[in-house]
Amino acid sequence: MTQVRILIIFIATLSYWSIHLLTSSQAVLPADQNIFDVCSEIFNLLFLLAMLAVNISLAKRSYDADDGKWFFIGLLLLLCGHTHDLLDEFISINPLVISFVLENAANNLGVLVLTYALFKWSIRYKGQIKTLQEQKVILTSVSNKDPMTQLYNRRFLNDGFKKQLDEVDFAMQKLSLVMIDLDNFKSFNDSYGHLHGDKLIQHAAKVISEEIREQDFAFRYGGEEFLVVIEGDKSTAKRVANRILDTYRNSPFSIDGNYIHKTLSIGIKQLSCKLSFEESLNDADTALYSAKQAGRNCIVLSGETEQPYHYKQHSTATLVQL
Ligand code: GH3
Ligand code: MG
Ligand code: MG
Repeated sequence: MTQVRILIIFIATLSYWSIHLLTSSQAVLPADQNIFDVCSEIFNLLFLLAMLAVNISLAKRSYDADDGKWFFIGLLLLLCGHTHDLLDEFISINPLVISFVLENAANNLGVLVLTYALFKWSIRYKGQIKTLQEQKVILTSVSNKDPMTQLYNRRFLNDGFKKQLDEVDFAMQKLSLVMIDLDNFKSFNDSYGHLHGDKLIQHAAKVISEEIREQDFAFRYGGEEFLVVIEGDKSTAKRVANRILDTYRNSPFSIDGNYIHKTLSIGIKQLSCKLSFEESLNDADTALYSAKQAGRNCIVLSGETEQPYHYKQHSTATLVQL
């Protein structure tokens, strides 16, 4: 909207100067063409009055009063100059040198002040855009995050992140999905209450954030479910997943001094150009389901074969086949 206003003012200023030049060229014509001068001056005056009205309304509504002040002074000076010009035409006396100088001084000063006002306004306008862009970055990052865990939320996954993935060539860049679900969380909630449940979710989110690398993305996918997008193939994803599984179950978490035994299960799927993101997500979910079926507290890889691998319970190093 402000850009449109600047454009209007520029076009208006340009047309004003065209008319003004036309008027000046008429000044050298014979006196019987004076009626053209009068019309031009009346047009100039009307235009300046209109600009004054626009200026006042803009100053009231959209931009800083300080900018408005300079527009106002510039237009007022131009108005004085042209009123004087018009009076000259009506009275039909040859302008005295002093009045000629005054008239031109007012006009030129008016233009200078208007230019200064426009310059000042454009600087402020640029500053406002920068501030708005900064605010947008902050707001976007706030709306992309889950307030409870500070991980990315599902909305960011669906709106922004998936679009970025559309541009990825999976032959060049390896990416893997790691689906994580806390084990027996419902019974934990039932035993210790919802508030402690929230704390455990936050604790798991902290472990995940600390165990992934800078280039990986962690999302809170659902209540006690998390999705991590790992930059790397399935073996890299496996290493990161194993760290998360291990750190989570060994990390201290106690309620009223009682140590809580807690585990989580993980399903992994490497993204490929053969499958859509949703299909890969579905495969990671199926792998997670297999991990639950296999007794929880383990990692299952969704592979080309229907028989996935998983980490044996309570083992951090041995990889066994189901
Ligand atoms: P499984 O090992 O098979 O995953 O069993 P589970 O009990 O963890 O799984 P289930 O999906 O049955 O239960 C998840 C529970 O998580 C149910 C829901 O009440 C709880 N939950 C979801 N969101 C939140 C939350 O934000 N805070 C808390 N405290 N609980 C939540
Ligand atoms: Mg669960
Ligand atoms: Mg669940």
